[in-house]
Amino acid sequence: MAADSRSLNELFTHDAFIDRHIGVDATARHHMLEALGADSMAELLDHAIPPDIRLKNELELAEPVSELEALTRLKGMMGRNRVMRNHIGAGYYGTIMPAVIARNVLENPGWYTAYTPYQPEIAQGRLEGLLNFQQMVMDMTGMALANASLLDEATAAAEAMALCKRANRKNKSSAFFVADHIFPQTLDVVQTRAKWLGLEVIVDRLETLEQYDVFGALVQYPAEDGRVADLGDLIERAHDRNIMVAVATDLLALALLKPPGEMGADIALGSAQRFGVPMGFGGPHAAFFAVNDDLKRSMPGRVIGVSRDRHGKPALRMAMQTREQHIRREKATSNICTAQALLANIAGFYAVYHGPEGIRTIATRVHRMARILAHGLKVGQINVENEHFFDTLTLRVDDADTLQQRAEAAGHNLRYREDGRVGISLDETTTLQDLESLFTVILGDQHGHDIAAIDAELQKTDAQLPPSCQRQSSFLTHPTFSRYHSETEMLRYLKRLENRDLSLTHAMIPLGSCTMKLNATTEMVPLSWTECADIHPFAPESQVPGYLKMIEELGDYLVEVTGYDAISMQPNSGAQGEYAGLLAIRRYQQSIDEGHRHICLIPSSAHGTNPASAAMASMKVVVVECDANGNIDLDDLQAKAEKHSADLSAIMLTYPSTHGVFEEGVRRACEIVHQHGGQVYIDGANMNAQVGLCRPGDYGGDVSHLNLHKTFCIPHGGGGPGMGPIGVKAHLTAHLPSHVHCQGKTRFEPGTAVASAAFGSALILPISWAYIVMMGARGLREASEAAILNANYVAHRLSEHYSVLYRGRKGHVAHECIIDIRPLKAASGIDEEDIAKRLMDYGFHAPTMSFPVAGTLMIEPTESESRHELDRFCEAMIAIRQEIRAIEQGDVARDNNVLVNAPHTQFDLYSDDWPWPYSREQAAFPTQDTKTAKFWPSVNRVDNVYGDRNLICSCPSIDDYRED
Ligand SMILES: *Cc1c(COP(=O)(O)O)cnc(C)c1O
Repeated sequence: MAADSRSLNELFTHDAFIDRHIGVDATARHHMLEALGADSMAELLDHAIPPDIRLKNELELAEPVSELEALTRLKGMMGRNRVMRNHIGAGYYGTIMPAVIARNVLENPGWYTAYTPYQPEIAQGRLEGLLNFQQMVMDMTGMALANASLLDEATAAAEAMALCKRANRKNKSSAFFVADHIFPQTLDVVQTRAKWLGLEVIVDRLETLEQYDVFGALVQYPAEDGRVADLGDLIERAHDRNIMVAVATDLLALALLKPPGEMGADIALGSAQRFGVPMGFGGPHAAFFAVNDDLKRSMPGRVIGVSRDRHGKPALRMAMQTREQHIRREKATSNICTAQALLANIAGFYAVYHGPEGIRTIATRVHRMARILAHGLKVGQINVENEHFFDTLTLRVDDADTLQQRAEAAGHNLRYREDGRVGISLDETTTLQDLESLFTVILGDQHGHDIAAIDAELQKTDAQLPPSCQRQSSFLTHPTFSRYHSETEMLRYLKRLENRDLSLTHAMIPLGSCTMKLNATTEMVPLSWTECADIHPFAPESQVPGYLKMIEELGDYLVEVTGYDAISMQPNSGAQGEYAGLLAIRRYQQSIDEGHRHICLIPSSAHGTNPASAAMASMKVVVVECDANGNIDLDDLQAKAEKHSADLSAIMLTYPSTHGVFEEGVRRACEIVHQHGGQVYIDGANMNAQVGLCRPGDYGGDVSHLNLHKTFCIPHGGGGPGMGPIGVKAHLTAHLPSHVHCQGKTRFEPGTAVASAAFGSALILPISWAYIVMMGARGLREASEAAILNANYVAHRLSEHYSVLYRGRKGHVAHECIIDIRPLKAASGIDEEDIAKRLMDYGFHAPTMSFPVAGTLMIEPTESESRHELDRFCEAMIAIRQEIRAIEQGDVARDNNVLVNAPHTQFDLYSDDWPWPYSREQAAFPTQDTKTAKFWPSVNRVDNVYGDRNLICSCPSIDDYRED
């Protein structure tokens, strides 16, 4: 073998993750720079980024480590968490994710790398999964309509309050009643939200509702201490007084309990966690939200509906609220954007897999074991407080501390309440050995209970549920919930749905602002570890040192990346981060006697969540115009800042702007706002252009959210999960959200939390931790550089064929570019939607449509794409441009061509009838690539208008799929 001149160390660089994450290698980079007329990356960056904001040094982060090393470290760290038998309950329960779902959905990039189904023709799989979830929620709760998930139970409760306020036109009160038996973390988030909407929250015993004049009430069923009581009369009396009632509830309990819908509830909400999704130290989990018929069209969040395609076949799509915030901005019904699609899909599949009988069996088992436990404890002279319960008992004990020691020694976590009482919740994972062990822990070794004998005794009596609360109605009756109970059937169902969806496993997804980059397998591995997944968010601090350490380290890295002083991991999405950040600003201003400041300046180009979040923080939005080059009009900003100087609270800036350009004036914009006493919120969704190159904390930001599901590699999951931690400057640190269950360094301040769990969706934080650790400072910077290079390369290649809307001072874009379709539309009738659908025939997902400018497409390639893939995409776009040219030149009819008829399905191609003026090959196999590997849209173009007019959000009957 010939001598190899490389050093031993160099031979190890082959393991570097950086080159696996970044798609463009040195040779390709060289060619691409050449194409752009730049001598070096340094020159490109000098031209693209204003010099006055450039970071002078490399970030201070440790050297990058290999994938194996990252996993070894993480395993060592998370291995210090203690996995217990958890009976804490309080909204989080043990559950078993069926292995067929774990391997084929949670651990499968075909599911987790997809985007929100804005392009329904290539998303029918997850749309069906989400429709199953909605149907499951509607069935279990007995409500008329459910959405496709919210972020968590507590924010769902806050949304319920806001919905009652919006919808209740008969009762003008500004007070909201919350029964004192709801989970403490739910109450806390409701209080945060109420305070900033100017609503009063009255917390009192359920029975006192009659005494108050309120527009709505929130009650829980079963209650937080396990009690079950019929709510029917209460709801009826509330309605008589024009009070709307929202019921927080539990899906598993509803298999045995009369559903809230049958008791007249207006809204039902809760967490779908215990339908197969691990606790994960707090999330991610799908919250559910369901309403009665009257509230159908005011539902917050995304709703999947049934429409039809151009051939009249049933086809699914997101109904009504598609891009709602972008249209309604500060008048939007909520700021929810990213939700919990992947987790909703998993919960829906759990219901599909178990079916009505399986769910009933699990619920019955849990209830029966709780009865055995209650009975055994009572016989042992323990005071069990609740007579009626589903799965949770509350005990009065003399010495909770000793009990805690004994329980922990035996591996059990119970809920130790502040008032000294002890809660025990049972769940799907509870075994007979657990019951034995709990008897021993609570009653001593000599308890003498024979579980089988107690069970036999109890079977002679009725369930421990109030007779009027026992469920009579059936649920999960749709055939989907009965068809896939064998593993073979389930596996094939999951695969069939997956195959309908285009994800990153097929092609680049160039969605501007969404940063669809690599979600590396190594980053995903820890999610399946029991020491990450099976940790209760309210476990004692001593049991979770691994989690706390990982969160602290990730926080430190993000501080370094952003230039801020502190990080809060609580917000579960970018939009929640915006809300938490704006509240930090408002609370800070109150603390210095400037609480009257309430004007929020927002550029016209902003993402729709910005004004929606500002409205939730009771701010008044004043729009700042953009100039002809897409930059913030600094004169207009100056004028508006002056005009509102006395009341100016903040500006919300996105940087680089949503126009895809590093604006020169960003420092100046921040200065203007600061001069007028305002704070600067920088929307960090576009951090992918900045990491290692510039830092919002350096050029004027006071607070930013980071979309960890964009820049920091958490997969989009088909519309969630996400994480939107916020970074703040020191003066805002004291105003970050706190939490009723404080762990680590947080302190508790009521009414400041924005999520159910202290650290949001902690289970997915190791993804971002691993990404940063494997990239190191150099890798992160090179990723940003490659993202900028790739975007400029695409802009350059397309600019001969399309007009690139905005560019910086030297003609460059940042990490994304906008192409203008309006001139083409004028000349040919073809619009951005036709191009989006035609791209499907070429095997691609469309870029972002009509955001931030109507009639445009925004392309963000990210650093993870190779030059080969960028070229493939550009060639598809260029070929489509030729097809448009043929229309412009009159060679092809404007109303019957390969674009307006796109996308084309297999059925179109193979049907005997081919009435179109172009060939089948041109329709479906326009490139060599499509001939080798074809991705087929599963339906033809979906009719949006029809779907909204005929709102159907439940699983369609099988007959609907039959040909007439
Ligand atoms: C994605 C995005 C948001 C919202 O983030 P979510 O996590 O979806 O709530 C806000 N601003 C911009 C510019 C974004 O691209």
